Amino acid sequence: MNNPTIAIPYIVLWVAMMRALPVRAQILPATCSRCGRPYERRDLGENVCQCGQG
Ligand SMILES: [Zn+2]
Repeated sequence: MNNPTIAIPYIVLWVAMMRALPVRAQILPATCSRCGRPYERRDLGENVCQCGQG
Protein backbone atom coordinates (compact mmCIF):
# COMPACT_ATOMS: atom_id res chain seq x y z
CA MET A 1 0.00 0.00 0.00
CA ASN A 2 2.29 2.77 -1.24
CA ASN A 3 -0.47 4.64 -2.97
CA PRO A 4 -0.17 8.28 -1.85
CA THR A 5 -3.78 8.94 -2.77
CA ILE A 6 -4.87 6.52 -0.05
CA ALA A 7 -2.35 7.85 2.45
CA ILE A 8 -3.51 11.48 2.23
CA PRO A 9 -6.68 11.04 4.36
CA TYR A 10 -4.64 9.32 7.06
CA ILE A 11 -2.09 12.14 7.07
CA VAL A 12 -4.84 14.76 7.29
CA LEU A 13 -6.48 12.88 10.15
CA TRP A 14 -3.18 12.50 11.97
CA VAL A 15 -2.39 16.22 11.63
CA ALA A 16 -5.86 17.09 12.88
CA MET A 17 -5.36 14.91 15.95
CA MET A 18 -1.97 16.49 16.69
CA ARG A 19 -3.48 19.96 16.47
CA ALA A 20 -6.33 18.97 18.76
CA LEU A 21 -4.00 18.08 21.63
CA PRO A 22 -3.04 21.65 22.66
CA VAL A 23 -6.65 22.70 22.17
CA ARG A 24 -7.81 20.03 24.59
CA ALA A 25 -5.19 21.17 27.08
CA GLN A 26 -6.83 24.59 27.08
CA ILE A 27 -10.30 23.20 27.72
CA LEU A 28 -9.39 23.08 31.38
CA PRO A 29 -8.20 26.61 32.20
CA ALA A 30 -6.46 27.70 35.33
CA THR A 31 -8.98 27.86 38.13
CA CYS A 32 -8.93 29.72 41.40
CA SER A 33 -7.65 27.67 44.31
CA ARG A 34 -10.10 29.39 46.68
CA CYS A 35 -13.41 29.22 44.81
CA GLY A 36 -12.54 26.74 42.06
CA ARG A 37 -13.92 29.01 39.36
CA PRO A 38 -12.00 29.94 36.19
CA TYR A 39 -10.39 33.34 36.07
CA GLU A 40 -11.70 34.21 32.63
CA ARG A 41 -15.23 33.75 31.33
CA ARG A 42 -15.39 31.36 28.39
CA ASP A 43 -19.15 31.07 28.02
CA LEU A 44 -21.74 33.79 28.36
CA GLY A 45 -23.09 33.90 31.89
CA GLU A 46 -20.46 31.60 33.29
CA ASN A 47 -19.47 32.25 36.90
CA VAL A 48 -15.85 33.37 37.17
CA CYS A 49 -13.52 34.03 40.06
CA GLN A 50 -14.28 37.26 41.89
CA CYS A 51 -11.94 36.74 44.81
CA GLY A 52 -9.64 39.52 43.62
CA GLN A 53 -12.51 41.90 42.98
CA GLY A 54 -13.67 42.23 46.57
ZN1 LIG B 1 -11.61 32.73 43.35
